[in-house]
Amino acid sequence: MSAGRPPRLSVRGDILADVVGMDTSLRTALGDKTARPLAKQLEMETVGDLLRHYPRRYIAHNSVTHSSEREDQRFRPGEHVTLLGKVDGVAGRRMRQRRGHVLEVSVSVGGNHFTCTFFNQPYRERDLQPGTTALFSGDLKRYRNSWQLVAPEFIVLGDGDSGLLPGLIPIYPAKRKLRSWVIMMAVRQVLDLLDDPEDPLPDTLRAAHGLASLGDALRRVHLPDTWDEQEDARRRLVWDEAFALQLAMAGRRASATTRPAPACPRREDGLAAAFDARLPFTLTGAQQRVGESIADALAGEEPLNRLLQGDVGSGKTMVALRAMLQVVDAGRQAVLLAPTEVLAAQHARSLRAMLGPLGRAGELDADTEQATRVTLLTGSLGAKARREALLDAQSGAAGIVVGTHAVIQQSVGFADLGLVVVDEQHRFGVHQRDELRSRPGTTTPHVLVMTATPIPRTVALTMYGDLDTSVLDELPKGRQPIATTAVPAGVKPRWLERAWERVHEEVAAGHQVYVVCPRIGEEGGEPGESWPEPAKDDLLDPEAPTDEFEETLRKLRPPEEEEPEEEARPPLAVTEVGPMLAEGPLAGLRLEILHGRMPTDEKDAVMRAFSDGTVDVLVATTVIEVGVDVPNATMMIIMDADRFGVSQLHQLRGRVGRGSAPSSCLLVTEAVGGSPALERLERLAATPDGFEVSRIDLEVRDEGDVLGAQQSGRRSGLHMLSVLKHGDLVAEARDEARSVVAGDPTLAHHPGLAGLVRSVVGDDEAAFLDRL
Ligand code: ADP
Ligand code: MG
Repeated sequence: MSAGRPPRLSVRGDILADVVGMDTSLRTALGDKTARPLAKQLEMETVGDLLRHYPRRYIAHNSVTHSSEREDQRFRPGEHVTLLGKVDGVAGRRMRQRRGHVLEVSVSVGGNHFTCTFFNQPYRERDLQPGTTALFSGDLKRYRNSWQLVAPEFIVLGDGDSGLLPGLIPIYPAKRKLRSWVIMMAVRQVLDLLDDPEDPLPDTLRAAHGLASLGDALRRVHLPDTWDEQEDARRRLVWDEAFALQLAMAGRRASATTRPAPACPRREDGLAAAFDARLPFTLTGAQQRVGESIADALAGEEPLNRLLQGDVGSGKTMVALRAMLQVVDAGRQAVLLAPTEVLAAQHARSLRAMLGPLGRAGELDADTEQATRVTLLTGSLGAKARREALLDAQSGAAGIVVGTHAVIQQSVGFADLGLVVVDEQHRFGVHQRDELRSRPGTTTPHVLVMTATPIPRTVALTMYGDLDTSVLDELPKGRQPIATTAVPAGVKPRWLERAWERVHEEVAAGHQVYVVCPRIGEEGGEPGESWPEPAKDDLLDPEAPTDEFEETLRKLRPPEEEEPEEEARPPLAVTEVGPMLAEGPLAGLRLEILHGRMPTDEKDAVMRAFSDGTVDVLVATTVIEVGVDVPNATMMIIMDADRFGVSQLHQLRGRVGRGSAPSSCLLVTEAVGGSPALERLERLAATPDGFEVSRIDLEVRDEGDVLGAQQSGRRSGLHMLSVLKHGDLVAEARDEARSVVAGDPTLAHHPGLAGLVRSVVGDDEAAFLDRL
């Protein structure tokens, strides 16, 4: 359907006898012709798939002028939009320069004006007389200072037809080949046929929280008459998602504690005690408190399931290491899982450095009495080294094994695994810890999860609801605040010059400086050194333009009128910036570069030289993000800072301010004033607080990404839940979920809820339902 009046809705008589439910296939319910594009464009197979495709927003069709107020719409060129508007002028003419006819229809939408242009379709004028109200759908263009839709599809809403529409017109995430109103028609048809689905939520729970029934909620979210109806419906549907997620968490928690953990009692005369005795500083109050509580838990048979939160530099790794040593003292092993090879290697290096001779069992200068071995296991080890590492793990010679999630999960056997420490560097909500925890055996290891930066409580509840939380809310004494400044080098080049002068000043004062770039150079990056993808639009991916009218337009429009597309340049690279600085503004300083693709021994040499103070300036990728600890480094300059996520920037700047001298961090960007990118950097610069930083991070992230939907690569049942917006609701849902699961850990007596969990979190996450 490209234009005209809505098709008459026909009820397919042949299936009326059957019951249409959420599992009914769309082909059965709607017929092949309607179902095919839904399957092809949006991978919808069942009635449930369609009904869970919720409107993105609504337009009040009887009050055109209200629409823009309510939607707070900000238009962007290139966006695919569906608009409800009124025609207020139409003019057709022969084109001057070329052959052909162009019809320009002027449309008002709220307070905005749009021009719809049609090439060689003079007959469209009949449908689009002034005063006509219609829905238009097409790609936005900015052309000579006005908004255009070129050859949009449209559907006229005449007096007679508007009766077919609900009070609010739902606007769906749509595709060029599957318009919003086509989806709306399909939804209407399905809802006409649908038997109200059985409600998975018990009546008592619905009553207690004032929730609409599922049937009502589904009808009203798609075809609401009022804004209130729509809000009630959404609240119920969000509840389903939050509740399912919390049931899954509560279930995971229950299943994680069915088997006992190996008890690892403290020893007065062990490695942990020797380590503490050698510590060159005193633990912070928070480290002591959290350390005690973890130590007590490790000593018992109830599995520890703990999330360890704390700002960068608060000493989480120290707490984790002390826990690992207690486990080693009990004759068992600990494993530390990192998300990337680079991070794993660095963790291994810093653990060895912290342990000193206590970590060199089997080597000459080992502390023979108590020493243990830290073994690194990653995919890039040579065959021989890998075999040795595997043997270390299997024989128990390695007290501590450090590696990537991927490698350790696939291939490693442990002699006696007591503790799994997971470093969830920038990765919210990955669930690798389950694999090691659920290996066959009579015991299940203790689990400690560290987050890179702290996350707000509601987020922790949503994503780590199966874990208890400990927070290190205190930085070691003598930490210097890090003065952070955003430097918009594009508009204020003088600021950047000043930055290089300040590098000279720092070095002259005997200090050292990091310069960080987002890219290695030459041929791309490596895992762990990539920069985050820009946040996605909430639209489904539009397909590449195939519209023949696009083509026509391109041919018709004189070339000089084509707006030049701005080519995004690749991010700055270490291998390019390094030499540039060495020959330019930083000439005369001792400068080295460091990145993950350098051979290990070269990397080590550079790192050592920087630690020893024989290198003034280190130009590096994010390899320095963890494990690098040079208190004499007092300044960090991050190039193309807008290419990093804010949490990552926060983590990076934590590499300075580790000594007694005041420190600074400059976030250099070409982003201009008023842009979201610069605003983000300025907000980061304004706060030293990791909790606030992760809030900023979450605001710019795709929610689906946060909740792990993308990671599973599968259709997720999380459509509406927002970890930022629905904090209270999540807390309520968690309490309900814990009480349900306490009485029925596998939901055997709540089949409706079990079904809800499966449909929302997917079979993998719902695995606990089948355990026990
Ligand atoms: P996090 O993992 O939370 O970012 P780390 O455990 O890596 O923090 O600690 C950061 C640095 O501070 C390390 O060099 C560590 O040795 C040091 N450190 C840890 N605890 C203390 C403390 N109580 N006093 C002084 N320095 C500490
Ligand atoms: Mg750390």
